[in-house]
Amino acid sequence: AKKSNRSGIVFFNQEVSRHESERQELLYDLSVAIERKTLLLVYQPQFSTADLSLCGVEVLLRWQHPVHGFISPDIFIPIAEKNMLISKLTAFVIEQSYTELAPMLGKEIHRVSINVSALEFSSPALMKALLLHIESQKNYIQYLQLEITETAAISNLGGSVELVAHLRQKGLRLSLDDFGTGFSSLSMLKDLSVDEIKIDRSFVFNLETQPRTQAIITALVGIANNFQISIVAEGVETQAQRQLLHELGCHELQGYLLAPPKPLDQLCSSIEQVRQV
Ligand code: C2E
Ligand code: CA
Ligand code: CA
Ligand code: CA
Repeated sequence: AKKSNRSGIVFFNQEVSRHESERQELLYDLSVAIERKTLLLVYQPQFSTADLSLCGVEVLLRWQHPVHGFISPDIFIPIAEKNMLISKLTAFVIEQSYTELAPMLGKEIHRVSINVSALEFSSPALMKALLLHIESQKNYIQYLQLEITETAAISNLGGSVELVAHLRQKGLRLSLDDFGTGFSSLSMLKDLSVDEIKIDRSFVFNLETQPRTQAIITALVGIANNFQISIVAEGVETQAQRQLLHELGCHELQGYLLAPPKPLDQLCSSIEQVRQV
């Protein structure tokens, strides 16, 4: 028994070190990818429920690893967070998206949503660095919207409260992402004035068969209308969901049904296609 115990422990340690070395390798490769700007941005449009006109785009990161192939942001964002790469990553997303979208801003595109990691939003130092970076992008601020999730953050914003207010005066918008999942909830609506709520896709998924979920969305739409903020449903995949969200009064739709995230050169054609749906 002792023997197998011991070998069990050895095996376990090898497993741990293998995972740890893989993580270290990914971390190194990620820092190189940020440095060389080889990460790719894709854009997913958000459409008005009423007439399917374009309201804005959400920027999402894609990483094509030279050896391991495509790696999901759900894998590499936490790695970046653990190792303080996240600020560099967000700065890259802001700069690169501005470079790519500049010719379309104020014309085809009036709103660009960027994801801010929960860690970044809950650390006063990281948040301050982010806001100062945004402030330096003078001509971009009026189009920018930050998608945020972390509830605990509000009280931690500390010295950044004034900076946030200052940037909002210049047109920066705030959106509560994944609303209803527990990370983004009512207390955040209470404490932080935001411009948009994004209903998490778990509420959209079984909408047709769940009257209780429909009632929740109706209530959220009521709150949004009262606060005069917009409400976006994400993960819209079927015509039935689209129809129901329209009936429930949801303002905007985002999802594979209308357009998946795509590189910029394919964005225009996917917007055109939606007009013909
Ligand atoms: P998120 O912010 O909630 O982004 C929405 C995710 O849903 C995206 O996954 C998008 O591709 C996917 N999606 C869009 N339409 C549909 C649909 O109709 N059905 C389904 N099932 N999914 C849909 P993605 O691109 O893999 O990103 C995953 C998460 O990684 C994002 O969730 C966000 O939290 C994070 N992320 C992505 N890019 C960035 C970034 O630039 N910075 C930060 N901090 N996080 C990012
Ligand atoms: Ca988002
Ligand atoms: Ca989301
Ligand atoms: Ca998410």
